[in-house]
Amino acid sequence: MSEDSQSAELGRRDKRRRGEVAKYDPQALGPAEKGPLGQLFAPVAGFGVTISSMFRPVVTEQYPFEKVPTQPRYHGRHQLNRYADGLEKCIGCELCAWACPADAIYVEAGDNTADAQYSPGERYGRVYQINYLRCIFCGLCIEACPTRALTMTNEYELTGPTREGLIFEKQDLLAPMLEGMLAAPHPMVEGTDDDDYYRGEVTGPTAAQVEWVRERRPHDPTVATARVVEPAQEGAK
Ligand code: SF4
Repeated sequence: MSEDSQSAELGRRDKRRRGEVAKYDPQALGPAEKGPLGQLFAPVAGFGVTISSMFRPVVTEQYPFEKVPTQPRYHGRHQLNRYADGLEKCIGCELCAWACPADAIYVEAGDNTADAQYSPGERYGRVYQINYLRCIFCGLCIEACPTRALTMTNEYELTGPTREGLIFEKQDLLAPMLEGMLAAPHPMVEGTDDDDYYRGEVTGPTAAQVEWVRERRPHDPTVATARVVEPAQEGAK
């Protein structure tokens, strides 16, 4: 500390000892005194924001009578997607469950068999649950999914009278069958593997898949509506 600042500090201490330090003066810190116009409007000045808002457009939303669309990337209810031939994209790997910070997802995988193939590859999501009492809609699960099976819709009306009702099961989350799809289970497109599905080379059910379902489930409504495509050529891969 320099000699000057040392003497200044000693001087301040002396003043404090002698009680000469400036006292707190609320008047000095208060607002400046109002002029005649300010004094005239002072009694109603508090209504300024209210009155000015009365002439602005109303932003109140009449929900639930009028539903306002969300932003396109809004994180709403989850969806388990399908490939174009109707097989499920979920392979039951549980990565979404491990990524979930709220422990809201529960997955149990099952083995695909020749008689019951639900997804391309060896395994499928046999049990899939999302507990919407826990979910915080952060989207980490969809980032973790290796097959893009799990995405989020814009649906935000997720309420219910019971706790059980807010645990969504696989059938609540599975994407609806789109026009031309063939309901699973059924074999994969002949000559393909799970990589071909992932690369988008399967564009719909083939005649062999439709025939397989027709033999085992003749009353399945998607047999009649399936839009048959030619299987991808080996050389085209
Ligand atoms: S939704 Fe995706 S991450 Fe979750 S189990 Fe299925 S494939 Fe794995």
